[in-house]
Amino acid sequence: MWNSKNSYLEIELNKVVENYNYVKSLTNSKIMAVVKANGYGLGIVEITKILKKAGADFFGVAFYEEAIKLIKIGIKEKILIFNYIKKEYLNKLINIDNIIITIYSIEQLNGYIDYIGKDIAKLKIHLKVNTGLDRLGIREENLDEAIKLIKKYNLNIEGIYSHFANASGSEKYTRFQNENFNKIIKKFEKFEILFEIKHISNSAATLLYREFDYDYVRVGMAIYGLQPLKKYDNNIKEVVKLKSIISGVFNVKNGENIGYGLKNIALKDMKIATIPIGYNDGYLFELSNKGLVEINGEECNIVGEVCMDQIIVDVSKIENLKIEDEVIVIGGKIGINRLAKMVDTIPDDILCKLGKSLEKNYIGDV
Ligand SMILES: *Cc1c(COP(=O)(O)O)cnc(C)c1O
Repeated sequence: MWNSKNSYLEIELNKVVENYNYVKSLTNSKIMAVVKANGYGLGIVEITKILKKAGADFFGVAFYEEAIKLIKIGIKEKILIFNYIKKEYLNKLINIDNIIITIYSIEQLNGYIDYIGKDIAKLKIHLKVNTGLDRLGIREENLDEAIKLIKKYNLNIEGIYSHFANASGSEKYTRFQNENFNKIIKKFEKFEILFEIKHISNSAATLLYREFDYDYVRVGMAIYGLQPLKKYDNNIKEVVKLKSIISGVFNVKNGENIGYGLKNIALKDMKIATIPIGYNDGYLFELSNKGLVEINGEECNIVGEVCMDQIIVDVSKIENLKIEDEVIVIGGKIGINRLAKMVDTIPDDILCKLGKSLEKNYIGDV
């Protein structure tokens, strides 16, 4: 939090809840609210509390530390850890009822068994199987070995899941993955390994398909107002604004240099303003010469490179601008989804980076 409140994120918690309820209205599945990466940058504690209030009964995180953080604030709802947990933490999880771990490979499972022996049966598990993402997930050729180990160590398998590689793009591949998922489930069932909870859809799949609704859908982006689809017509609302101020206003003459690198020469007499936000705050360098900000309801272009803690914008069309006037760097006309498209990135990339260094002001009840 280095930016002395010149720049901060404003997060509308009521819109987070509206997005959650919107997703809920689309599906009969329950929602696993994904709050990894510090709630996609927005603050895992505040986001989890508000979603719990909205009715979420299952949270998804990437790492052990995130799960423990939720336990510490009194979350009694279930928490699934998606990613690897170092063996040294496994014993701590035995006594925490509502934390569930993911087993996604034979090597991982054998490592855990070697480390905690029979106590492996005391851990609640969701199996993650590979259906075509080829990242974490037990591979088809290892299913027999998985079944053997599940039986031998009497593993407490509550659920099974997989993850789509391109739910927002290829319908064919998404269907292929879902078919694989069903085949794998049937194989386990043949060996009397049954799953109480099945889940495969992320935000994109939840917005697009009903036939992949199992017991839960795992939703992150949509809750945070981030559009997972390239073309969309839905009710997801942006929840975050990045606000800053004017730190200086300057008149520049035709032919003068603006900013680093001597690459931006003013083509006319113009007025520029500086804003104290830069790549140290997570504002992407790629927005150099491309990004826009909103001042007094007008869109103003970034001129020159995004600096470490500043940007320069063209404010020629704005009258009476002065130091400390408000700037909407993200939000309103220049929403995070629009900005992401301008530099061909995904909006979660922008949000995660901004969330790391900026103060957060929450609007609404936490
Ligand atoms: C991040 C993540 C999700 C959520 O994906 P969104 O596209 O943000 O909805 C779901 N499942 C897993 C395993 C994830 O890692």
